[in-house]
Amino acid sequence: MSEAPTPRFRSVLDRFQPYRPGKAVVSPEGKSFKLSSNESPHGPLPSVLSTIADAALRVNRYPDNGCVALVEAIADHHKVPADHIVVGCGSVGVTQMLLEAVGEPGAEVLYAWRSFEAYPLLVALSGATPVQIPLTGETHDLAAMAEAITDRTRLIFVCNPNNPTGTVVRRAELEAFLDRVPADCLVVLDEAYREYIRDAEVPDGLDLYPDRPNLAILRTFSKAYGLAGLRTGFMVAHPRVAEAVRKTYLPFTVNAIAQAAAIASLAATDELLERVEGTVKERERVRDALLSDGWTVPPSEANFVWLRLGERTMEFSAACDAQGVSVRPFAGEGVRVSIGAPEENAAFLAVARSFPHRNGPE
Ligand SMILES: *Cc1c(COP(=O)(O)O)cnc(C)c1O
Repeated sequence: MSEAPTPRFRSVLDRFQPYRPGKAVVSPEGKSFKLSSNESPHGPLPSVLSTIADAALRVNRYPDNGCVALVEAIADHHKVPADHIVVGCGSVGVTQMLLEAVGEPGAEVLYAWRSFEAYPLLVALSGATPVQIPLTGETHDLAAMAEAITDRTRLIFVCNPNNPTGTVVRRAELEAFLDRVPADCLVVLDEAYREYIRDAEVPDGLDLYPDRPNLAILRTFSKAYGLAGLRTGFMVAHPRVAEAVRKTYLPFTVNAIAQAAAIASLAATDELLERVEGTVKERERVRDALLSDGWTVPPSEANFVWLRLGERTMEFSAACDAQGVSVRPFAGEGVRVSIGAPEENAAFLAVARSFPHRNGPE
């Protein structure tokens, strides 16, 4: 029997698995600890919640397609000109916009690997060719990345701190790298975890970009600002870059509630950064506990820790699942564990302590 013809799709889609919802994991006592997506463990502040409720009364109206009030609030907060800002549906949405703006067959997009999972997917969908440069010592190999630049390289991601390893690149090495990137190639510094950085040698992208017309900075409201469920992020870059990226905006994708909540969150930055401080303290406590139990854990400047477990990755992840702790495994590589509330972190540490094998240097 011959198969009936089906609609034809882009061949690139064959490279990706369909989305499969994660299974809920529950401990024998009926508890669930979600440490798999690097979210804030805190619900919205009262001031943000009341803004959300208020905005909900007007959802019969389309959102502001230019996100004007939010752009002004970001400009004011970060002391950057409004025409340097592009808001999108999460910073993943802005990443897609960036790739829509540069990606076409023949263009190359360079990034470290392993890094943020959205990069390979969005690069492939844009039609560009991904070029992945292996991490060295769990961090970006900027020298190798610079060597890999060709005249086809259009965009380079630097994820700082890197997801999932938590490691950073510091000012001197980043600036030396940026100096080697041709002016017609865009560098995107993904600073999703900027607020969790305590290493003073890590530069703030917003201080670097004014002198560098080919540098774009990505920030998000999903992590420190606790709005992952509302989907808002933004880019800051020189106007030529911002204008090109803005052209790819899928109309109305940053919804009205998200815009209002992001503005209210910026107004509550001090309160939110206090929460971040608590997460940073927990991060150090968790890492110290793991180290003293004999684990190898790279220093993290983000709200997660990385355990390179190699072949034991899925075994470790299953041990976590069994205790209601969901973590993010990358089969054959390692496990990323978000820093949650103290009780959640304690549940994770208990699993790690009872796991029969420690990881070690490669
Ligand atoms: C979480 C994360 C983001 C944020 O994505 P949103 O779309 O803003 O939720 C961006 N980049 C990296 C590296 C991340 O880990």
